[in-house]
Amino acid sequence: MLGSGGIVVLDETVSIVEFALRTIRFYQHESCGWCIPCREGTDWIKKTLTRFHAGGGTKKDIDNVQYIAENMMGRTFCPLGDAAAMPTLGFVKKFRSEFEEYLAGARPANPLIQIQPVGEPEHAGATSPWLTSPSS
Ligand code: SF4
Repeated sequence: MLGSGGIVVLDETVSIVEFALRTIRFYQHESCGWCIPCREGTDWIKKTLTRFHAGGGTKKDIDNVQYIAENMMGRTFCPLGDAAAMPTLGFVKKFRSEFEEYLAGARPANPLIQIQPVGEPEHAGATSPWLTSPSS
């Protein structure tokens, strides 16, 4: 159980780093932007995980993602903020070792998301439909 009550079954080949990014992309896209913790929190987590996923992450990013998500909890007008924060906290608390292994160079053999390396436009050469929506 990672968060808001939805159930997603993943096998061991799925990278939690990738899945965390896919999940926060959804919530950032769905945020109406009315309250600051949700609007800024989902955006900062998405940006941090995008950079992390692209190879520009640091160990501090893992702590920052957790810190941001903890500060979203209970501070938003509707449940979307909590729904975004809860799975994010689950990812970094229960699968921290996967984030650390990712930093050490472990990458999924069949990535779900193609993200350009740090320094290049996020959508240049995108091959995934997750990267082609106007607001992602
Ligand atoms: S928590 Fe709800 S009201 Fe607040 S910005 Fe997110 S979607 Fe909008």
